[in-house]
Amino acid sequence: MGAGRFAPSPSGDLHVGNLRTALLAWLCARSTGREFVLRVEDLDRVRPGAEERQLADLAAMGLDWDGPVVRQSERARFYDAALASLGGRGLLFECFCTRREILEAPSAPHAPPGAYPGTCRDLTDAEREERRALRPAALRLRAGTSTFTIEDELHGSYEGVVDDFVLRRGDGAVAYNLAVVVDDAQQGIDQVVRGDDLLSSAPRQAYLATLLGAVPPTYVHVPLALNTAGRRLAKRDGAVTLREIGPAAFGMVAASLGLTGSTAADLLDGFSIDRIPREPWIFVPPA
Ligand code: GLU
Repeated sequence: MGAGRFAPSPSGDLHVGNLRTALLAWLCARSTGREFVLRVEDLDRVRPGAEERQLADLAAMGLDWDGPVVRQSERARFYDAALASLGGRGLLFECFCTRREILEAPSAPHAPPGAYPGTCRDLTDAEREERRALRPAALRLRAGTSTFTIEDELHGSYEGVVDDFVLRRGDGAVAYNLAVVVDDAQQGIDQVVRGDDLLSSAPRQAYLATLLGAVPPTYVHVPLALNTAGRRLAKRDGAVTLREIGPAAFGMVAASLGLTGSTAADLLDGFSIDRIPREPWIFVPPA
């Protein structure tokens, strides 16, 4: 039996768009006989009390999860072990570039737009020494490909860019792209349901998974909730959280999926992955 997951960042209350993604992740997992795990991605952007409120809101919708809640802040040793394994195979290099230097560098031959230009990929020992005196190094993956194809239940085969992406930042913090891959692999996640803003990150993550000896999961990148101006829904758009809207919020989320019910379990019967709406959900806050 595989597993699905929801992996919120505890940066504030979940809005109806986040709740809808969580509900979809739960429905996709439960309707396919999978376990469902909850992972709190608290490596940065943590707001005190937010995790507790997020978990309470998910439980209020009737979502349940298997096993204890996992927190990334408690898993540094696994990220370090993955870095050591990659480093031992020559798959990491130190990068001293600032954001600005990366933007201003001429792009590498054949590199897709936006890809790391390769500035620090092949520094000599002397050049590296010199730069170490300037600023702490980030660690980047020495990628062996420039594209990778993932399988997505809504997007089909999706080929995207893989570049030498950052695995550990200059300040020592583990990058989201490393943590998510290590965690999904260790937690036996074989179905990743999340917002489609992360679709373009999936090829990098799936490629990294293969380097760490894992089979990439199947993805379901679901459309986001937008405000009436067509922009990604945000707190400033009015009453958008469960606490602000009240119990009616669940029915609104369910209706956006063409389903009715008052708790997650009510929706399982009418749900199937191929009936997930392909268009963003335009959310109009209740007056
Ligand atoms: N923690 C990420 C977020 O809240 C989600 C990461 C993921 O689902 O892979 O945006």
